Amino acid sequence: MGTYYRVVGQCRDSLTNHLLESELRSLTSVLSNYDAESEISSFNRSDRVGEWVPVHETLVKVLAMAQTISEQTSGAFDVTVAPLVELWGFGSKEVTQPPSTESITRELHRVNYKLLELDEGNNALRKLSNIKLDLSGIGKGYGVDHIAEVLADQRCSDFLIDIGGEIRVQGHNALSHSWRIGIEVPDGTGQAEVFLNLSSGAIATSGSYRNYRIFDEESYPHVIDPRSGYPTSHNLTAVTVYRSTATEADALATALFVMGYDDALEFAESHDIAVALTTWDADSEKHSASYSSAMRVLIKEGN
Ligand code: FAD
Repeated sequence: MGTYYRVVGQCRDSLTNHLLESELRSLTSVLSNYDAESEISSFNRSDRVGEWVPVHETLVKVLAMAQTISEQTSGAFDVTVAPLVELWGFGSKEVTQPPSTESITRELHRVNYKLLELDEGNNALRKLSNIKLDLSGIGKGYGVDHIAEVLADQRCSDFLIDIGGEIRVQGHNALSHSWRIGIEVPDGTGQAEVFLNLSSGAIATSGSYRNYRIFDEESYPHVIDPRSGYPTSHNLTAVTVYRSTATEADALATALFVMGYDDALEFAESHDIAVALTTWDADSEKHSASYSSAMRVLIKEGN
């Protein structure tokens, strides 16, 4: 998935890198936008508008969760964002200047999660327009949850799974304590600002500090508002979400990042979601962190 993975566990049955890697490889063969032969890439190439297309069950499962989060967040999370991701230079083609307003308006017509229909009973998808899907905002989280199922099959009672910073834990570490997870300050030092002690659940982060493009000395982060067509532009630098599954945490972190500080905090409070929000203050040149009520409870238990 273009990143590292780390699995630490106590298992009754044997657990090998070979098993984990073959599971991850079969997932990427379905979900990867970076693999021209993957199922998602061939769905994106297809011009069968209005026709049901049978696909792998995994793809339907990931998209069902994606559509739920899109509904919940009024389209802040939207896997049909792919044409805008390409346009702003975060896809396969290199881009040297920001796209024109005309090209953004043109692509916006085919960016809307409502243009994708799922038939979960028959594992089929239907495009209502010439849409393209991008699963980068949810796929790593799904990978983490899938590996958690593999570990459960191998009778692992206690584990930590980390794929590129999306983390899920269960049980205890080797010292019989809860897993201690740090929420990083996004300043490149790798230092944690707070810790959570967790014996279940998942943590995912979205941010502007690792992946961005610079055009005319201005920085454009890789998270794009699917409603405006523009990369997010606000003082939020990172959003970390705690949820029971990594799939949901991953997608929600992206959605809340799109919303910006005020709306993200309001959403977190009204849905009782544990969220850490880090903002950058240009005057003091410092990061500062705020937490939703549910996250403050988790932090209190962990510090
Ligand atoms: P997140 O915030 O979780 O996701 C941001 C990404 O989601 C953006 O980069 C964009 O692609 C998309 N996005 C932007 N705005 C929105 C929005 N509003 N709603 C929904 N989605 C949005 N990278 C490689 O370099 N090489 C690889 O071979 C490779 N293979 C991959 C295979 C798989 C199956 C997956 C899931 C990812 C792969 N990646 C690969 C991607 C890489 O790891 C990404 O950088 C990562 O998935 C983005 O995660 P994030 O935590 O940085 O950001």
